[in-house]
Amino acid sequence: MKIKRYIASNSQEAMMKIRSELGTEAVILHTRKIKKQGFIGFFQKPLVEVVAAIDKDEEKKTYINAGKQPTDVKRSIISDETSIKNNKINELQDQLNSIQDLILNVIHKDKKNEDSNTKLIDEYFNMLEENDIDKSIVNKILNIAQKQIKFTPENEEAIKKAIRVIIKEYLGPPSPVRDSENLAKIILFIGPTGVGKTTTLAKLAAQFSIKDNKSVGLITSDTYRIAAVEQLRTYSEILDIPLKVIYDPEEIKEAIDELRDKEVILIDTAGRNHKIEEQLLETKSIINNVPNPEIFLVISATTTYKDIKSIIQSYSFIEDFKLIFTKLDESTTAGNILNTKVMTGKDLSYFTTGQIVPDDIEIASPEKIVDLIVGE
Ligand code: GDP
Repeated sequence: MKIKRYIASNSQEAMMKIRSELGTEAVILHTRKIKKQGFIGFFQKPLVEVVAAIDKDEEKKTYINAGKQPTDVKRSIISDETSIKNNKINELQDQLNSIQDLILNVIHKDKKNEDSNTKLIDEYFNMLEENDIDKSIVNKILNIAQKQIKFTPENEEAIKKAIRVIIKEYLGPPSPVRDSENLAKIILFIGPTGVGKTTTLAKLAAQFSIKDNKSVGLITSDTYRIAAVEQLRTYSEILDIPLKVIYDPEEIKEAIDELRDKEVILIDTAGRNHKIEEQLLETKSIINNVPNPEIFLVISATTTYKDIKSIIQSYSFIEDFKLIFTKLDESTTAGNILNTKVMTGKDLSYFTTGQIVPDDIEIASPEKIVDLIVGE
């Protein structure tokens, strides 16, 4: 502590001296009026004595901080004001910095979220595409799903559920054989060779005959391969149901007439090469000679989507048909079933899952495909 005594003609003068020497932090300890000693002093105005003190550290701080000389009062006051201003500016700058940090944090977090969302969308995109679902359909599924639910890791279960529901909607309810009461129900099977047309026909014939106890008749126009006729003859003998073989599309009317007492007539056609116009004309002619047939296009689930498109194109002259997918047991993916359904808009009716007649056939449940694609 530094203590100093000042004598001045008035208080203001004393204060000025104190401020200039000790600075603004000085403390007034004591003031009093004094008279000069002696006779002359008696007639003069009294003087003012002020004792002021300053803490040594404060004194240093005042001058060092402000970078000023103890004697320069004016500059000291200005510097004090500047330092207050500077402090305020620094304070504001700090606040601005922390706001900026906050904004950057939010942006960074948003970007991180966006990145993880995009990653998740990509994962689902790949998963659906790996199932052979056509890109355009994958995009549609994910667009709808994103409108319903945010693609964040904590929503995984809900995302899966949404995708399952969307695929199920696209597949639609299954549509097995329609049941007509009195009329003979004529069911026609078309599709390329080797997909399992004849086997599927035998499976359904057995189901109608044994399970549903209906009278069944069979017709085949697939006479290009002797083995095909023999195969169906074997089934007809085992099931004890009549088989008519036709060698010309015109003969179909007669064959149907001969089986008119049957409740169900199943007709097998020759698939062979669906790209050859002449062979397609034959199928066309049979369809035209059959009254009100229910037509099933049989496609193997192992066929590529490119080939399926070509098959659908070949049979585009048929207005109304349902889809049977065979060999699901041999296929590693189920996407083509969804692709075909979306492309044609035709109902799915049956899936076949093996070579065993009559067991390996089932109604085309969309759940089965959804399970195969998304998993349970
Ligand atoms: P089509 O030429 O279209 O009449 O075909 P087929 O009925 O003669 O069947 C061709 C081959 O596919 C035969 O060996 C059948 O046993 C077999 N097949 C038919 N359906 C299925 C199936 O769902 N799964 C498997 N793995 N093989 C099948």
